[in-house]
Amino acid sequence: MFSSHKRQTILKDLKDKPLDILVIGGGITGAGIALDAVTRGMRIGLVDMQDFAAGTSSRSTKLVHGGLRYLKQGELKLVSDVGKEREIVYENGPHVTTPQWMMLPFYEGGTFGKITSNIGLLAYDFSAGVKKDERRQILSTREAIMKEPLLKKEGLKGAGYYVEYKTDDARLTIEVIKKAVEYGTLALNYAKCTQLFYNQTYTIYGVMIEDQMTGKTYSIEAKKIINATGPWVDDLRTLDGSKKGKTLYLAKGSHLIFSQEDFPLQQAIYFDAPDGRMIFAIPRDGHTYVGTTDTTFEGDLKHPTVTKDEVEYLLKAIHHMFPTLSLTATDIQSSYAGVRPLISQGGKKADEISRKDEVFISKSGLISIAGGKLTGYRKMAEEVVDLVKKQFKKEAGILFGSSQTSNLPISGGKIGGADKFRNFKQDMLKKNVSYEIDEDELIKLIQRYGTNVEVILKLYKECQQEAIAEQIDPIVLAELKYAIDYELAYKPDDFFIRRTGTMFFDMEWTRAHKENVISYMKKTLDWSAKQSQQYSEELTTLINASTL
Ligand code: FAD
Repeated sequence: MFSSHKRQTILKDLKDKPLDILVIGGGITGAGIALDAVTRGMRIGLVDMQDFAAGTSSRSTKLVHGGLRYLKQGELKLVSDVGKEREIVYENGPHVTTPQWMMLPFYEGGTFGKITSNIGLLAYDFSAGVKKDERRQILSTREAIMKEPLLKKEGLKGAGYYVEYKTDDARLTIEVIKKAVEYGTLALNYAKCTQLFYNQTYTIYGVMIEDQMTGKTYSIEAKKIINATGPWVDDLRTLDGSKKGKTLYLAKGSHLIFSQEDFPLQQAIYFDAPDGRMIFAIPRDGHTYVGTTDTTFEGDLKHPTVTKDEVEYLLKAIHHMFPTLSLTATDIQSSYAGVRPLISQGGKKADEISRKDEVFISKSGLISIAGGKLTGYRKMAEEVVDLVKKQFKKEAGILFGSSQTSNLPISGGKIGGADKFRNFKQDMLKKNVSYEIDEDELIKLIQRYGTNVEVILKLYKECQQEAIAEQIDPIVLAELKYAIDYELAYKPDDFFIRRTGTMFFDMEWTRAHKENVISYMKKTLDWSAKQSQQYSEELTTLINASTL
């Protein structure tokens, strides 16, 4: 039930089958809620007006982290809660989360001096419950330079060295949804909530959904409606007439991506920009990406883009920290921007506002959740579903169990714990004798799909003849078939941005396979000529926007 060929069946079931909860918004917040609720035995629907994770959940810094910088703002509880969640996210999805040693260089007059870094990292280790072999180290100036020769040497006093986790935010979201679907969640993308329905006592009991592919509308009923629409949370609250009191503050963050040839960073660095803001530079898949900015956002929420000012700001920050580089805007391989759905705190600047999540329950019963971090999605979901569980008990005497997700591998993650992932990789590489795929390519697939790589390999084996006939690379075809049949991909950008991440981290691959992918999708999904033209144009626009 997560194949694009099954869209009509999913829609029909959403309409006809009784739901306990309908979650609106298929970013990481909605995905987490759906999984937590369905594994407690609730009947769940999940809809998104775009593709899953097409909002903020594919545009983050892609770190599962405790947020060291929030210690500076006195957010001990946030760091502690989110920090502890890192481990759970890693254990449940080791294929989409990879430990990453991060260096925090300290300079004369910088945000974190040697002593504050040491205390800060100690507090981080302690509050986030960091495991022994991943606890902080303090590097001498020489050691810091050996790890990263590009670092500015002037005024360097040493560095803190600690572990965070790299992730693919969109794939994490999709793996969580796939697990929820395995348990019976009815999940559909390109299904926009356009209207809310209320009974005579003004209690919300359903919504109107518009299928964005056909324009047809459907009424869906559920005992509870959860608004997990991230930056759009206030739009639904407005529709509900409940946008009062605390509201959202939208803060944009941008990232630039360079090839390793132009920016040969060896070591992930967390450093001060000239204005004192903290910025990440991280090596990834033959590239280095740098971000983020933090500015008030007022534009088109579906298409936040990186501005010239942000490019200048980030380039300046890069040259400040890595003075031997001479990068210009023409070296940017790709870029992306995302919008943080923060809860407004009167008068505070974007980077000073807390990243804590909050739940609002309106008079009609609409439950809205906003704020928070990708990293804390599971805990956030547990709290929201606990709240709904209490409501079910109080209002209807219906009993549901407690959260099951802290020890529940997400799709692709059932490897027997994170420390078994290396063995799993080795086993898969041994099996490669029968596939003869380039080893680096296979490692990429294992990392991307975890245990589901076996399905990809089966598809790869089966599609050899078809690949020749379609003139498409068989690995690309296997991934594309998987995206369409097992991950509800419908448009080319679903594939290039959120199923493979290649639009950001392998633009060459995207360009090389773009035409073949479009023509295969057209054929297999039976697009009209108009759809085909529209989706190709959308992809071209997105490529142009990200390459600036
Ligand atoms: P979204 O992902 O935006 O999902 C909301 C969804 O609702 C969207 O897909 C949208 O299409 C859908 N929707 C809206 N209206 C409707 C409607 N009417 N009907 C149906 N669907 C609708 N966190 C970390 O832990 N680590 C990081 O490294 C990190 N870096 C970040 C960097 C940046 C620049 C930003 C912006 C955020 C970062 N975050 C990070 C925070 C994290 O990305 C967000 O907290 C998280 O992705 C928010 O997810 P969400 O599901 O609430 O929102």
